[in-house]
Amino acid sequence: MQVFLPPEIGFCFGVKRALRLVTNELKKEGKIYSLGDLIHNPQVIEDLKRKGVVFVSDLSQVKGGTVIIRSHGADLSLIRRAKEKGLKVIDATCPYVAKVQKIAKFLSQNSYRIVIVGLSTHPEIKGVMASAGERKTFVVKDPQEIKKIPFTGKIGVVVQTTESLDNFSDIVKNLVKRGKECRVFNTICKVIRRRQEETKRLAKKVEVVIVVGGHNSSNTSQLAKLSQSMGVKTYFVEKEEDLDSVEWQGIKRVGITGGTSTPEELIVKIRNRLGQFLVA
Ligand code: SF4
Repeated sequence: MQVFLPPEIGFCFGVKRALRLVTNELKKEGKIYSLGDLIHNPQVIEDLKRKGVVFVSDLSQVKGGTVIIRSHGADLSLIRRAKEKGLKVIDATCPYVAKVQKIAKFLSQNSYRIVIVGLSTHPEIKGVMASAGERKTFVVKDPQEIKKIPFTGKIGVVVQTTESLDNFSDIVKNLVKRGKECRVFNTICKVIRRRQEETKRLAKKVEVVIVVGGHNSSNTSQLAKLSQSMGVKTYFVEKEEDLDSVEWQGIKRVGITGGTSTPEELIVKIRNRLGQFLVA
């Protein structure tokens, strides 16, 4: 049996940056608040808790000290309120996410109504909506939802940095038929695009793909869906033990991949675990 890994695994630039900012601050302060999960990976969150990061869901729970804005970004008014409360704010918003916020604001200021392709409940989308002014935006996840868009005319389009390129293309293809003017910005992060392309390549040459990462991670879920859509047997796992019930007999080629919030060490552990099954 052969095990294949894509050329790029482990944390992306935005996640590494957020973790570096937290680590530096912990050295100075010993304790730091995070509004929501800093990144979507359960093992990393547990590790951060042990090191002194306190996760809260609302700014009212932070009485003093330092608060970090996660890589998914936040509503800018929240950052302003945190500063007004006298908190030290460390902004770990990924520059790619900040760019989507900026484009949404630009479109809004130039009289476009904005379609955001992505998941309305995701923190990144909430931040982008806030940048544009919520009343001017409409979020779609599925091409079927296009008919629910309550506006025509000048339409600007941005997309969640972790969205599937195929889904985005489908939505845009149908959307351009609606507006008088349709201005489209492909804001899918380039790391995500590479991971999606590599996952497609991997799925074509193996019988089983193991996608490793947090079930709450949007980009990891997209990789699992993408692999499944290629017709290959796909397991979406968070930890090594999740593989124990899988029947490996007769499988000759396995691929392992992971999202941008999945630690490289975890992928290596999964590969090693797989080695044990093969020997057994
Ligand atoms: S996946 Fe892309 S947009 Fe998201 S944090 Fe990483 S580099 Fe930034």
